[in-house]
Amino acid sequence: MIPITKPFLPPIKEYKALLEGIWKRNWLTNDGPLVRRLEEELREFLGVRNIIFVSSGTMALQISLKALGLYGEVITTPFSYVATTSSIVWEGCKPVFVDIERETFNVDPLKIEEAITPYTSALLFTHVYGIPCKIDEIQKIADKYALPVIYDAAHAFGSKYKGRSVFDYGDISITSFHSTKLFHTVEGGAIFTNNDDLSEKIRLMRNFGHNGPYRFKGIGINGKNSEFHAAMGLVNFNYISDILEKRGRIYHEYRKRIMPDKCLFVPNTHNKDFEWNCAYNAILLSDMNEVKLVESALLKNNIYTRRYFYPLLTSLDYVKNRSDLSTARDISTRVLCLPMYHDLSESDIKVISEVINKTL
Ligand SMILES: *Cc1c(COP(=O)(O)O)cnc(C)c1O
Repeated sequence: MIPITKPFLPPIKEYKALLEGIWKRNWLTNDGPLVRRLEEELREFLGVRNIIFVSSGTMALQISLKALGLYGEVITTPFSYVATTSSIVWEGCKPVFVDIERETFNVDPLKIEEAITPYTSALLFTHVYGIPCKIDEIQKIADKYALPVIYDAAHAFGSKYKGRSVFDYGDISITSFHSTKLFHTVEGGAIFTNNDDLSEKIRLMRNFGHNGPYRFKGIGINGKNSEFHAAMGLVNFNYISDILEKRGRIYHEYRKRIMPDKCLFVPNTHNKDFEWNCAYNAILLSDMNEVKLVESALLKNNIYTRRYFYPLLTSLDYVKNRSDLSTARDISTRVLCLPMYHDLSESDIKVISEVINKTL
């Protein structure tokens, strides 16, 4: 069986070594020493100013929307995971969808301005598959209308834009450390911001607003993460260069083997502005029928794929859409993500590619 993804697990010995310390200290959660160490190591590796480790990527999104005090409409992408939209609605805001571009499947910056109304309070976009959005173009629009930008960078650990971590952009970037993501802490996520006051506010929000044992500053929630999760992150972190390198090799192996005239890889142009982490391997087929053909041919060989992202988020029963999303609609019916994980072997890629080439 070849799954679509497989969580990375480090040697158990290394994890156990950190557990010894947890037992010795008897400090299991509440901003413990491993949580602080993980934040510090990631901060340095990523070159970001502030990082707040939280219990999930979804919690990171919700705290971010709350911390920015958003209300009214939030302009967003219909081509993402459900949490991007559900968080907006959960925080009492209304998602307004903007179409995506064919090159990266990220929001099309040329379509943002027409979606802005007097009720718009922020922009929230996803770096789909870890491929950075057109950050400079988006920032120009944000500056012109004085709107904060949040990036859902759940896929983007290790991706860079103009030489800096993508987490360094926007008023806030969030990521997910869920076990299926490229870097994980079993469950978890993080919030990044260059604004120190905002960072402090988010830190308080993560812990019920506690500002001392008997004092509270502002509303908060329980968004904390534990020493056990931080320990997994610290051990996995030792393997991050290896994981990133292997992903790159796997992606190029696929590109070498799958006939280029049959489908399109994403991203489908060379862009010197970014370095990509190869978090997902998506191909674009000619129509939904072909997707189903490839999907079932692979399944017959016990190979699992996923249609990220189908259907569009506009199909959720708690949202409405009034925009023309023809590109997103078209792409979501034709996209298929192939197996991608650190120890996917060359022979597996060969089998997968041969099934695809034969089916097309
Ligand atoms: C995984 C994911 C999330 C949610 O992260 P969790 O840690 O699972 O809560 C949000 N947005 C995108 C784009 C994701 O892929």
